[in-house]
Amino acid sequence: MISTTGQAAGLLSIRNLRKSFGTNLVLDDVSLDVQQGECVVLIGASGSGKSTLLRCVNLLEVVDDGVIELAGADITDPRVNADQVRSRVGIVFQAFNLFPHLTVLQNVTLSPIKVHGLPRAEAETRARAMLERVGLSDKATAKPDELSGGQQQRVAIARALVNSPVLMLLDEVTSALDPELVGEVLSLLRELKDEGMTMLIATHEMGFAKQVADTVCFLDGGRLLEVGPPSQVLEDPEQPRTRQFLARIIEAGRL
Ligand code: ADP
Ligand code: MG
Repeated sequence: MISTTGQAAGLLSIRNLRKSFGTNLVLDDVSLDVQQGECVVLIGASGSGKSTLLRCVNLLEVVDDGVIELAGADITDPRVNADQVRSRVGIVFQAFNLFPHLTVLQNVTLSPIKVHGLPRAEAETRARAMLERVGLSDKATAKPDELSGGQQQRVAIARALVNSPVLMLLDEVTSALDPELVGEVLSLLRELKDEGMTMLIATHEMGFAKQVADTVCFLDGGRLLEVGPPSQVLEDPEQPRTRQFLARIIEAGRL
């Protein structure tokens, strides 16, 4: 997709986004492009605005100013059907947010059936394919509390994939997991990236960011301070604030 200026517009194009909660300016003039097939990783301290940015893209927050375009269409337009946008933009949260009283299969078929009116049989076929994709075919009839955290998170990823999204948003999806379960979820994300999925990921997993991200963005107090390839932002940052943040991460033994 080439815009009139000759610049390639992203699959996702965020322009001059502002978001406040009361007097707290949480996203301050954020502009970011995510190209088709690109994996963009958001890093930044707690409270820097990573979750809010992802939630704005999924229309879980109303933006105060700016534009978010998905495949060239402004999704912040109030006339836009939010459910349709959400079927094209999958989101996965830190806390898996599965329904505890439903089976794994029912969790994954819920949105295709209830929101998109898919016949149950078709929704189940799709859901089973997604469960197979995340390596959990044998857990379709299990309840979430019978699964490990890593398995629950993979179900949440299957649920986000079931509507064939063009973009996946992942918000610290390994932060609630025991350390030994982090790897299985990160491997799955790596595979999705290799299959060409476009992803915007907030994470503290710097090793993963280094290996998998095409672009790393450092958010600081709601401003996008530094954007570039991981080799630059993580290994040779230009901004003192980025250096400080990474130094703290290294101190904590996470890089
Ligand atoms: P991060 O994900 O980087 O930790 P968040 O996007 O969760 O950051 O939060 C950014 C800021 O927005 C924080 O100051 C947080 O307290 C505030 N915030 C987030 N959600 C809400 C909300 N629903 N109501 C009020 N303040 C919020
Ligand atoms: Mg967050």
